Amino acid sequence: MIQITMPLNFLGTVYREIRQALVDMGEMFGLLAQPAEVTDAPDARALEVTGGEITFTDVRFHYEAEREILKGISFRIAPGERLALVGTSGSGKSTIGRLLFRFYDIQGGAIRIDGQDIREVTQTSLHQAIGVVPQDTVLFNDTIRYNIAYGRAGATEAEIEAAARAARIHDFVMRLPQGYDTVVGERGLKLSGGEKQRVGIARTLLKNPPILILDEATSALDTQTERSIQESLRDMGQGRSVITIAHRLSTIADADQILVLDDGRVVEQGRHEQLLARRGRYARMWERQSAEEATEAATEPAEGEA
Ligand code: ADP
Ligand code: MG
Repeated sequence: MIQITMPLNFLGTVYREIRQALVDMGEMFGLLAQPAEVTDAPDARALEVTGGEITFTDVRFHYEAEREILKGISFRIAPGERLALVGTSGSGKSTIGRLLFRFYDIQGGAIRIDGQDIREVTQTSLHQAIGVVPQDTVLFNDTIRYNIAYGRAGATEAEIEAAARAARIHDFVMRLPQGYDTVVGERGLKLSGGEKQRVGIARTLLKNPPILILDEATSALDTQTERSIQESLRDMGQGRSVITIAHRLSTIADADQILVLDDGRVVEQGRHEQLLARRGRYARMWERQSAEEATEAATEPAEGEA
């Protein structure tokens, strides 16, 4: 994939980008196609997070010039609030997360955190402020301890364990013969989807960022595992500003704000009850999913492994 003819310093940049990306963004952000073109402004300052207010103002964005992906997106998340993004596949939900992380620069509008344009702050400080829990956490071929501690260099054993407890993975780890020294990943112990996601949650808890981007689990997890992961994600969101990319509407019914996206535009916006009352797109999605969940509940055997 990486051509040998590339200049070495470029390779170094790509390597660092990919390595960082693997941990922070996971599969969610389609890392391997990641261009290394975003750079710090010469006078970039460290982001100062005071409350965690996030604003998107008429944000326009395309990956390729011929095809605009976000066609003027605006919203405001007050400090500590939870915003949910819903909409069909390809409508631009993950792109919004990538742009907040400044994986790409936008072509129009502005993205601000506590009033600071993210193009005017250092990427290091921006990335420190944002935790990402992708739906498919990527693990290193290393110990569970290492995989959690990656959230924060220099974390103590007690801190790692506290994060694991909060993510509800500690008891599982303690039942393994080698405990936190168990090697996981492709060449080690294969963890289930739910267990991997808990490691990702522990890693993020250790990082303790004021802003979170959560890509919710899909039906890859059984319903019971998903519910208990939801609880962990919800706990983690307390006191932080959160963007949740939602797949099951039942998990975001209590969000402070829901944006329904379609083809790069916000087509509906409000709280759950308001959107139901509109009897529009969201209400139809809700009806369809409620019916599906009722069918699942009737057919799914009672099991759970997380
Ligand atoms: P969602 O998360 O809502 O499913 P995405 O934000 O991932 O949607 O994608 C929005 C649109 O952007 C899709 O049409 C997708 O094909 C396109 N897209 C996503 N990533 C890239 C990329 N790296 N290059 C080109 N197009 C992309
Ligand atoms: Mg997506």
